Amino acid sequence: MKTALFIGRFQPFHEGHLDAIKQISEDEIIIGIGSSQYSDTSENPHSFKERKSMIEKSLQNSNTNYKIIAIPDIHDENNWIDHVKNIAGNFDVVYTGNDWVEELFEEKNIQVKKLKININISGTKIRNMKKLVDKINNLKKEKQAVILVHNYQRPEIYQIADFIGDSLELAKRAVETDAKIILFCGVDFMAETAKILNPDKTVLLPTYEARCPMAGMVDTEELKQMQAKYPEAKTVCYVNTTAETKAHCDVCCTSANAVEIVKNLDAKQIIFLPDKNLANYVQSKLPEKQIIPWDGFCYVHSKILIEKLKKGKELHPDAKVVVHPECPMEIIEQADHVTSTSGMITYAKESDAQEFIIATEMGMIERLQIEVPNKKFYSVGSVCIQMKKNTLENVLESLEQEKHVIEVGEDIKIKAKKALDKMIKN
Ligand code: SF4
Repeated sequence: MKTALFIGRFQPFHEGHLDAIKQISEDEIIIGIGSSQYSDTSENPHSFKERKSMIEKSLQNSNTNYKIIAIPDIHDENNWIDHVKNIAGNFDVVYTGNDWVEELFEEKNIQVKKLKININISGTKIRNMKKLVDKINNLKKEKQAVILVHNYQRPEIYQIADFIGDSLELAKRAVETDAKIILFCGVDFMAETAKILNPDKTVLLPTYEARCPMAGMVDTEELKQMQAKYPEAKTVCYVNTTAETKAHCDVCCTSANAVEIVKNLDAKQIIFLPDKNLANYVQSKLPEKQIIPWDGFCYVHSKILIEKLKKGKELHPDAKVVVHPECPMEIIEQADHVTSTSGMITYAKESDAQEFIIATEMGMIERLQIEVPNKKFYSVGSVCIQMKKNTLENVLESLEQEKHVIEVGEDIKIKAKKALDKMIKN
């Protein structure tokens, strides 16, 4: 039996340990984590106990044979290796992603294998993040605020979330909350939805720059013309629309319930906006209806290329292909499962498959890896820049100063609420 000693930077915000451990082939792994219990420094953002339990959580479903030990932080280069050897006992090889650790072991003629750090983040950044996370969490309690976070947000934002989910789940949470302030880590239309559903609460968006381009693709004058052209049609709008657009629709939907909503409408003709890809997907599921699509699209999902997906399938032939319905039809046709972002988590948990190719915004991979740590996920998507505009820094600023308040005009609010209420009830 061969034993590996793994000394690597542990990235609690990114489940980096799991990512690193997958690269180790020895039968037994000793995980050494730098600990303030040895170095007596207050600089470590987490205690040994906290780090240990985070690692255990990330490895809970893996078959790795491991033990976790506390080792000193590197403060005294001359004695550090001997100290570590005494604590760790026998091992055959050292794995690390840290150049300094590599150098010190090699100087002592101990074999070192370099880990590829796929998710790299410095210790200083982690410490700063931890301070921000603590400040936000304290302020949240003080101000009786709730933080709702979309699945596509940066992973460090997950640390301050009261709830993480897809648009439908977040809208439902927004209705249920009794908090005084709702801070929405998502994009503009999500925060607007929360405001419409909670007119008496303060709703904040960390930055007004977090705007969904697809939601801005509807011109209400053109919509009225389309509605005049199809007087028998009902209008269904995806939740990714402005409040003003929603006010002109019969009912809203999300990617999680679009097919159900359209199916249950007592109209054959349906004007569906703004996403033509989602409209085409709904049409493929409901041939008995006539879907009249708006010419909008999500630039993130529309950019997913069939060549990239086919290459992914070649590289990972056992992987299931999971696709968001905002993707073009040629991508959807390759899917084993088509679903919303939260539906992807459920599917990955329940499926017998161990590997998944994920066709949606790239950040979803981090979310899946946290929720389903024992399985592998490969992205064929790209990044939604607008979703990443929210940072811990601007969340703190927004909450401290109660800035970037979302307001919706009274008339629009009343009309848009009717369309949203039907979506939530469905
Ligand atoms: S992923 Fe697409 S639909 Fe979602 S916020 Fe970004 S641009 Fe809008």
